[in-house]
Amino acid sequence: MDPDEERGALGVPVFMPTQMFRSVASITPEYLKEHGIRALILDVDNTLTGHGSQELPEHVEKWLNEMKQAGILLAIASNNFEKRVAPFAKAIGVEHVSFCCKPAPWGLARARKKMGVSKKEVALVGDQVFTDAVGANFYGIPVLLCKPMYRDIKPSIRLKRVLERPLLARYRKKGGNIL
Ligand SMILES: [Mg+2]
Repeated sequence: MDPDEERGALGVPVFMPTQMFRSVASITPEYLKEHGIRALILDVDNTLTGHGSQELPEHVEKWLNEMKQAGILLAIASNNFEKRVAPFAKAIGVEHVSFCCKPAPWGLARARKKMGVSKKEVALVGDQVFTDAVGANFYGIPVLLCKPMYRDIKPSIRLKRVLERPLLARYRKKGGNIL
């Protein structure tokens, strides 16, 4: 299928990230302010920490504090189970929605409502095209796509990474950069 044919609520191709980043640490309060974003819906696995891990890497902790200090509202929306997501969310002190079923939009809607912001003020931060980018584009909010933190081990995710490649190449071909 031509990725340009299927368009999400913002009228952009559903597989297309709004902006790519090397890591969450590259997402700055300045970038968010410039784009009118004052709340972030965060993926967990391979975006904030390793898949299934409760560890909080130092650079992520620093980034979360930077966001909070800048007044950016944060909420987690993960496809993973409650027992995996809840302790991590509690540790970083943000609200969460588990078992989101991204790319379905309803988990993202619940996460947004927990922050009490309008759709215009929120963006999604994630690492996967087929769950995070497609979900956010269907829902109609910007997708800040980060490079996965670690190499994926699960075969299903590794396959998705292979399928992501031509879609991300398209992002680059259209002039998209990685901040
Ligand atoms: Mg992820």
